[in-house]
Amino acid sequence: MKISVFGTGYVGLVTGASLAELGHEILCVDIDTQKIKQLEEGIIPFYEPGLKELVQKNRIKKRLNFTPEIEQGVIFGEVIFNCVGTPSKKDGSADLSYVLQVAESVGKFAQDYKILVNKSTVPPGTARKCQELILKINSQSPVKVVSNPEFLAEGKAVSDFAHPDKIVFGAEEEKAFSILKKVYMGRMRGYIPVVETDWETAEMIKYANNSFLATKISFINEVANICDKVGADVRVVSQAMGMDYRINPRFLNAGIGYGGSCFPKDVRALLQVAKENNYEARLLQEVDFFNERQKQHLLTKIKKRFPVLVGKTFTLWGLSFKPKTSDMREAPSLVLIENLLNFGANVQVYDPIAMEEAKKILGEKVHFCSSAEEAVMGSSAILLVTEWDEFRNVDFLELGKQMKERVVFDGRNIYEPEVVREEGFEYFGMGRK
Ligand code: NAD
Repeated sequence: MKISVFGTGYVGLVTGASLAELGHEILCVDIDTQKIKQLEEGIIPFYEPGLKELVQKNRIKKRLNFTPEIEQGVIFGEVIFNCVGTPSKKDGSADLSYVLQVAESVGKFAQDYKILVNKSTVPPGTARKCQELILKINSQSPVKVVSNPEFLAEGKAVSDFAHPDKIVFGAEEEKAFSILKKVYMGRMRGYIPVVETDWETAEMIKYANNSFLATKISFINEVANICDKVGADVRVVSQAMGMDYRINPRFLNAGIGYGGSCFPKDVRALLQVAKENNYEARLLQEVDFFNERQKQHLLTKIKKRFPVLVGKTFTLWGLSFKPKTSDMREAPSLVLIENLLNFGANVQVYDPIAMEEAKKILGEKVHFCSSAEEAVMGSSAILLVTEWDEFRNVDFLELGKQMKERVVFDGRNIYEPEVVREEGFEYFGMGRK
């Protein structure tokens, strides 16, 4: 099938390359001409495991092409995926301007039957809005809008797209459902549950999904904070909780709060949807507020151990909001760095992948180091912020020799406290002794 994909970010590029892998002919469209130029040169503008190889392979097979030409993009595909960004507006609601731009172009240039598939995360009512917009531009438009939210996670986006837990379709007509099934053919030969529903339900599923995961993380962080007070170990608590099949162990790792381009923005967007519909979503308000507070929690621990931060040097291991991504959007590391700098501390950072992205935000404010070892030189404490694999098995005994004071704040609970202490360090975790 000929498929166009609008937006070549995390979702769009993974969608385009993965659908090409299924044998479809793909044209990826982006208004960012620089990005398109890079992609044509084989440069992937962000880090996502396995994506470069997938793009390369399908470029060679001539199944994956790129263009900045909107009209060409609309005319090319029988199916048009809308994968553009939906960032937060000031009030927390989703900025739909990019999504509506694409719908507008489709309304303007499409002459034949096509389906416009909204894959971006959008508030309930958006597919309806897109359909209305298309008909306003061309009352005879044969285009049908479908909602098909995406559930992939950065860091494992390629494999998530290939092996989703579910595929959700929201449409208003049978033909659109069957075309979408053709798009995903090959994936659906194996057992993957497909949920066919209406537009608003499909859109709501995505927000409910992300808001629930954000709540689950906040829940275990709250438990961790209480564990700190009563001397319990949250790692054992969450392991035991996870053994209950009604709960499951995933997303039960206590830490310094969630970040990224999805959870914070989607919780706030759902809050705003509720507000616009005269409903006060108290639980979600608290999740958002709590998570912002949790991002400050490590600083509270640091200040308890180091009452005076002026002139002290601290090491941040990890910058990206989670491992295996270069994405710095809403990363807890940024809040911690800002706080430490405000208190007059010096900050030395190292991240295996996200340094270039972080430099765009932090500039000269911190000292960027080329290795985990370099980042501890003359430092008073290691602050483990992102649980990259290379931080898991370090030789604390050796590292300690380069440091001014030997303290570890384990913001992701990846170390065994006894082992770190045996190697001469003071250990502070999240919700554990
Ligand atoms: P992104 O910011 O990485 O990429 C968006 C791209 O869209 C940019 O390259 C931008 O230039 C392009 N764009 C904007 N307007 C355009 C237009 N009119 N025509 C063509 N291209 C245009 O965004 P992302 O992280 O890929 O997210 C996209 C959507 O998918 C969002 O709604 C997001 O919430 C959702 N989502 C993201 C993830 C994730 O992990 N990143 C997972 C699931 C869903």
